[in-house]
Amino acid sequence: MKVYLGLPRGFCAGVVRAIDVVELALKKFGPPVYVKHQIVHNPYVVRSLEDKGAITVEDVEEIPEGSRVVFSAHGSPPEDFDKAKQRKLHVIDATCPLVTKVHNEARKYAKQGKKLVLVGHRGHQEVKGTMGVHSMHLVDDREPIQFPEWDSNTSIAVLTQTTLSVDDTQHSIDEIKGRFTNVMVRNDLCYATTNRQAAVKELCKRVDLVLVIGAPNSSNCNRLREVAEAQGVPAFLINGPEELKPAWLKGVDTVGITSGASTPEQLVEAVIKALGPQEVVPIEGVEEDVTFVLPQELR
Ligand code: SF4
Repeated sequence: MKVYLGLPRGFCAGVVRAIDVVELALKKFGPPVYVKHQIVHNPYVVRSLEDKGAITVEDVEEIPEGSRVVFSAHGSPPEDFDKAKQRKLHVIDATCPLVTKVHNEARKYAKQGKKLVLVGHRGHQEVKGTMGVHSMHLVDDREPIQFPEWDSNTSIAVLTQTTLSVDDTQHSIDEIKGRFTNVMVRNDLCYATTNRQAAVKELCKRVDLVLVIGAPNSSNCNRLREVAEAQGVPAFLINGPEELKPAWLKGVDTVGITSGASTPEQLVEAVIKALGPQEVVPIEGVEEDVTFVLPQELR
């Protein structure tokens, strides 16, 4: 068997920064450091930080008054910052700067009097955070598209979740533009999402099967699996080698492996080891050199 490795794959700059924030906070202030929502959507990462003294909670109300808390990379609604203030919590915000950019766009376009439409997946943590910034209409590509009773020439700004499928998002944007004439589109899909999906398409030209390593609640991992399937290649999303199924590998000579923006490289290595291929070939892809500065209190 031959394994082709997608490039780029794995951690993006926002995930590296968020993990660094928790680790540095633990070092600087000592445990416990609370983390609101999984710092990034990967159980391996969450567990390894919890082993060092992080405590993951889902709601601000669960955190004892006066504690230190890191808000996750996906972004949080202003309401959570207000609640934290009431509880006298010390908040370190690990929201990815590319998500913060979307929040700032929402404020800016709302101020200009535009109606806001967010293309995103209902219930995802990032969408909850962005929709908390200002009232906006959600377009979810997994549901029949519906619009409020707005005139066709309503001035509209379209924002997007950062981790959606490039192709599905374009489809949603085309539908919005078909319905309204005065539409300004901010395509907020981030560089990591775009590059990893392009790399999966390259992988699919060479392989019989694609394995995406990552967590089932990771948006960008799920989109990688879907992109591979849309190319006509069977694809599975697995946390690690323990989830490999021998039936998938029957008659398969070439396997493509990639991983989402929140997946540690050790898990990719563990899957390759479990497969035991004769050869591992990294495919050529975009070199990423994006880094983000740490929050002020940890610099
Ligand atoms: S996937 Fe994109 S938006 Fe999300 S943390 Fe990474 S760089 Fe930021």
